[in-house]
Amino acid sequence: HPATNTIDGKAIAQEVKREIAEEVGRMRSAIGKVPGLAVVLVGSRKDSETYVRSKQRACEQVGFNSYNVSLPETVTEEEIVEAVLRFNCDPNVHGVLVQLPLPRHICEERVVGSVSIQKDVDGFHPMNVGRLAMQGRAPLFVSCTPKGCIELLLRSGVQIEGKHAVVIGRSNVVGMPAALLLQRQNATVTVVHSHTPNLPELTRNADIVIAAAGVPYMVQGSWLKPGAVVIDVGINHIEDPDSENGYRVVGDVYFAEACRVASQITPVPGGVGPMTIAMLLSNTLDSAKLAYGFFEN
Ligand code: NDP
Repeated sequence: HPATNTIDGKAIAQEVKREIAEEVGRMRSAIGKVPGLAVVLVGSRKDSETYVRSKQRACEQVGFNSYNVSLPETVTEEEIVEAVLRFNCDPNVHGVLVQLPLPRHICEERVVGSVSIQKDVDGFHPMNVGRLAMQGRAPLFVSCTPKGCIELLLRSGVQIEGKHAVVIGRSNVVGMPAALLLQRQNATVTVVHSHTPNLPELTRNADIVIAAAGVPYMVQGSWLKPGAVVIDVGINHIEDPDSENGYRVVGDVYFAEACRVASQITPVPGGVGPMTIAMLLSNTLDSAKLAYGFFEN
């Protein structure tokens, strides 16, 4: 049973997608164009294939064109970069992303750096990350998972300004940009990681906790200040002999305990996950609007 204080990420993501689809409809009737998203997939990791398929399906849902290139595991770095550069130059493409992780022989930094910052809808280009970190600068795009976390907070009426937020994890894709975004929203932010000794004490001070460590059930009820808002980014597969495929997906938060202490909390699945793709669509729409000079008022 979902607790009554659950933040329904699935419903909020649907709402975002509905808004995007409406805007795409208006764009199509006004200028005869729609946004286009290009995805480069390398190799045949099952999880990556699943993510790419859901991105494709999401594009269809909101009326975007999607362009997909699948390259074999054995591809050279040069060939991946060439695929990216072709999309960079394609006027029908407004977002270009390379599905990570890449095979070990490929330099991720070079590939990610080859995406045009105007089409960097994943927000992974160092130029966009750098601008996110700097005062008085604005990134063109912010990476989708942390952006989704903030969107969940805002759409759930959570006040961020003046609050103390603890972010668990400091990765390039989630923790670090989440901390920067919270700071931009005028929260006071503590970032904790695997070398932080007194995690529970620190999280107990937080009005807002964003958990992105990749450790199942880590955040217990006793780690939370009563009334805290908890955003669980974790996607962890744990063995479950009772389930059809032998595993189950759980977050970084021990939901059954935490939902009794938190004022609002995201479930896993159905919390941050659906928002990530919704934010990817949102970034791609923004990019297309910029490219076409299409702005409504
Ligand atoms: P990484 O493994 O790249 O980073 C994990 C971070 O958590 C690191 O900073 C690490 O510290 C820290 N950490 C690890 N263990 C502990 C611990 N025991 N105590 C405190 N800190 C710890 O993971 P990602 O950031 O890529 O992803 C985090 C989680 O979010 C994963 O479960 C992933 O599956 C999920 N995820 C979900 C997405 C979604 O769409 N919902 C999208 C992306 C990720 P250190 O830096 O010291 O190593």
